Amino acid sequence: MKKVTILIPCYNEEQSLPLLYEQLAALTNNHAEYDWEILFVNDGSKDNTIQLIKQLSQKDNRIAYVDLSRNFGKEAAMLAGFDYATGDCMVIMDADLQHPPHLIPEMLQHWEAGYDDVYAKRTTRGKESWLRKNLSLLYYKLLQKTTRVEILQNVGDFRLLDRKCIDTLKQLRESERYTKGMFCWIGFNKKEIEFEQGDRVAGETSWNYLSLFNLAIEGITSFTIAPLRLSTMMGIIVSIIAFIYMCVIITKTIIWGEDVQGFPTLMVVILFLGGVQLLSLGIIGEYLGRIFHETKNRPVYVVKEYKGE
Ligand code: UDP
Ligand code: MG
Repeated sequence: MKKVTILIPCYNEEQSLPLLYEQLAALTNNHAEYDWEILFVNDGSKDNTIQLIKQLSQKDNRIAYVDLSRNFGKEAAMLAGFDYATGDCMVIMDADLQHPPHLIPEMLQHWEAGYDDVYAKRTTRGKESWLRKNLSLLYYKLLQKTTRVEILQNVGDFRLLDRKCIDTLKQLRESERYTKGMFCWIGFNKKEIEFEQGDRVAGETSWNYLSLFNLAIEGITSFTIAPLRLSTMMGIIVSIIAFIYMCVIITKTIIWGEDVQGFPTLMVVILFLGGVQLLSLGIIGEYLGRIFHETKNRPVYVVKEYKGE
């Protein structure tokens, strides 16, 4: 029998979990042709999420869980899930029921038909502010223009991955993770299905504008060196302007003279060197930042407890 893992990263989801489990139990009981594993990754929740998961796992032996030692973020929690999943394929979904479980059978059909990565694209984005929607639109346009890997908009983490994909993703162990881009990066046979994303059933989203901004920067810096190019270009432009200004000032000084001695030279040197310095600092800084994080070579997450097979 083929085994299907459902991976659910949870952070403060005590309110959503009972509802989610109810739906998943119904689904899995209807599809007894598969061996199921429901793998919860508790990402350092501050509420009763882990107690709830433990209770559920006593009732239902298909439930496995990984309890992380603190909150490492959803990206790290997902990697923990990739590492501990035992299925022949894996469905990743959110705990808040924004990803409808009734789509899973459809995903499995496509998987049986030979697709390795069946991803769900949302046709509606649920309740969201105008600003957030448009910022996201702009961001994806920008990202798409600057990177060679196609990174899809409106495609989240709700997807089914074949064992091949899981094993590949496990090898990508950078500590600053942008999993959404990794799914695109690994390739394999992809199949798109559509779904309507509802609102969270309970609890609150843990993303604010700042964390979204950080994730956005992560996306850009881990998939493209376009910002470095931009800083190079800016440096070149500033330097060219400074050079022209230098010529103008020198000519002016030669023809008409200059009252304050040394001022033109000073201005030119400051501007010119300023441009060059900004350019070099930008380049070095970007590279250094990433090297700094990756060379520490720390594990992406720390496990406090695992229960499963
Ligand atoms: N999540 C997590 N760690 C975090 C933040 C979120 O594991 O630090 C989980 C959360 O429990 C949920 C999923 O990631 O299952 C998506 O989170 P959320 O609903 O807050 O994000 P949104 O749907 O607003 O993008
Ligand atoms: Mg959500």
